[in-house]
Amino acid sequence: MNRLGTVVATLALTLAGLASAPASSPSYARGAEAAPTERPAVLGVRTIGHSVQGRKIVAWHLGQRGRPKVVLIATMHGNERAPRQVLQSLRDRSPIRGVDLWVVPTYNPDGAAHGTRKNAHGVDLNRNYPYGWRDLDGNYESGSHAGSEPETRAMMRFLRDVRPTWVLSFHQPLHGVDLDTKRPAFAHRVSRHLDLPAKRFTCGGACHGTMTMWFNHRFKGTALTVEYGDHPSRRLMRERAPRQVLAIWGAHRVSG
Ligand SMILES: [Zn+2]
Repeated sequence: MNRLGTVVATLALTLAGLASAPASSPSYARGAEAAPTERPAVLGVRTIGHSVQGRKIVAWHLGQRGRPKVVLIATMHGNERAPRQVLQSLRDRSPIRGVDLWVVPTYNPDGAAHGTRKNAHGVDLNRNYPYGWRDLDGNYESGSHAGSEPETRAMMRFLRDVRPTWVLSFHQPLHGVDLDTKRPAFAHRVSRHLDLPAKRFTCGGACHGTMTMWFNHRFKGTALTVEYGDHPSRRLMRERAPRQVLAIWGAHRVSG
């Protein structure tokens, strides 16, 4: 084939690809990739942004459209590695019914790669949100200003776009569900289903610039912190907890 022929053939293939794109699926918008067919639970996958060091932050769309919209976030602190197994297990097994679910298993991929609480700028992402932000140092380094970190801005864009009714942010090791939220009845429901005590997490004083505070202030939905213990078993993370999380909304996996 001559050069012009190659160009025409390439153009034709590109157009054919565009025509067959799944236009009805909102999950494919904004720099998304195709849904891997080997994961039957996955409706779509979206890169919601990149970390300081250029790693992708990925959100997976699962469940059933038109049902209660839920976002689950793990590994906001890179050294709290256990709870992402819950989200990965939900993503990697059979299809889910009864909830319109997004999971972000590795929100802080640089921290996860280096085993650090903070991102690659040394910022605690859970102190960098633009609600009650303060200039904090040390373990709670809050960044140069509210929303200074690309990971923070990526999650803000994503949550603004998806507008979930419920958000759970998974951490370790305080072993409990945060009662200090705008719907305490929901916190008690989560506590019962996850078999974790309802507690008040004080951030060692007042909380500043946390993701849940920002979300609760900014949106109608409710965001809640869930803390597992230091060493939850793999069996809990991969087998029991995924079922318990779905049961909060009366959702379940299709058996098989
Ligand atoms: Zn944490």
